[in-house]
Amino acid sequence: MRLKTFEFFDPPSLAYVLDLLGRFEGRGKLIAGGTDLLVQMKNHLLAPEKVINLMRVPELKGLEEKSGELRIGALVSHGQMEDAPVLKGGWEILSEAARKVGSVQIRHRGTLGGNLCNASPSADMAPPLLVLGAEVNLAGARGGRRIPLESFFLGPGNTAIQPDEVLVEVFVPEAPPHSRGAFLKLGRRKSLDLALVSVAVLLTLDEDGVTCRRARIALGGVAPTPLRAKQTEKALEGQRLDGPGMRRAGQVAADECQPISDIRASAIYRREMVRVLTERAIKKCLGLPIPPTGI
Ligand SMILES: Cc1cc2nc3c(=O)[nH]c(=O)nc-3n(C[C@H](O)[C@H](O)[C@H](O)COP(=O)(O)OP(=O)(O)OC[C@H]3O[C@@H](n4cnc5c(N)ncnc54)[C@H](O)[C@@H]3O)c2cc1C
Repeated sequence: MRLKTFEFFDPPSLAYVLDLLGRFEGRGKLIAGGTDLLVQMKNHLLAPEKVINLMRVPELKGLEEKSGELRIGALVSHGQMEDAPVLKGGWEILSEAARKVGSVQIRHRGTLGGNLCNASPSADMAPPLLVLGAEVNLAGARGGRRIPLESFFLGPGNTAIQPDEVLVEVFVPEAPPHSRGAFLKLGRRKSLDLALVSVAVLLTLDEDGVTCRRARIALGGVAPTPLRAKQTEKALEGQRLDGPGMRRAGQVAADECQPISDIRASAIYRREMVRVLTERAIKKCLGLPIPPTGI
């Protein structure tokens, strides 16, 4: 399908982007890699009059650790996160998730900021960032604000970001010592597919290596937004991570998610897959073998 005509702007700085957003009063649309936006424009779901390119803005670039905190610029691509040496320890699940996004071309072009701001309930980078307790930094005409990622997602395609704001960067704290993470994604095929269900787990273990001191679990594709599975976390904390404990956690996760039936899968199937994937992700954190799972 042909794109509707639009004006294109290519500002070289964040200040310039904010100035344009202010002048356009809600009629300007930001574009980063364009892998979500251009599809929506081609399908005539969106027809912005003014498109503002972010790809030259230096403030939105960079991936680095400083004093135990990870900073990921909004323009960092999935490809950059796949093998970034800084993503080690608890942060490794970010690489694990980035490797499962789309295809080589999509990972090269698509950015973390675009993935979060598009606010798909199936966005692959959301669950691992939620379990890591990430915060997003938004810049607007009235200054900046840093909010937890958990309060960023409001519904499908809807976030806390205002029309005159830009997502500048994501901050991720270090996981507590003795933490291990896993990210599992189930699609209908091995690549180029959005998650039917995804599960990110971050477990902090006691000295004995089998008792769960702290659990963070997030689910993708099974609620209007990526979801923290807080009841499942509670069910795990203080418990021995043995067979029955893991099975119980899978069931609690299945009970607390809110999947819908759509053209890609039924709610019943998604709920059952949450049960299976949660249990397997916990096993993976413990270094136990799991069957080949998803993408
Ligand atoms: C074939 C195909 C396969 C895909 N597979 C997957 C997959 O497996 N997993 C997955 O999660 N996604 C997938 N996607 C979706 C997409 O590639 C990702 O969500 C990608 O990260 C979007 O980033 P982008 O830079 O291309 O965003 P864009 O398309 O440029 O922007 C997306 C939205 O975010 C806004 N935006 C972008 N950056 C900012 C910012 N810094 N501040 C404020 N607003 C901003 C834009 O205005 C737009 O509304 C796929 C897409 C395609 C076309």
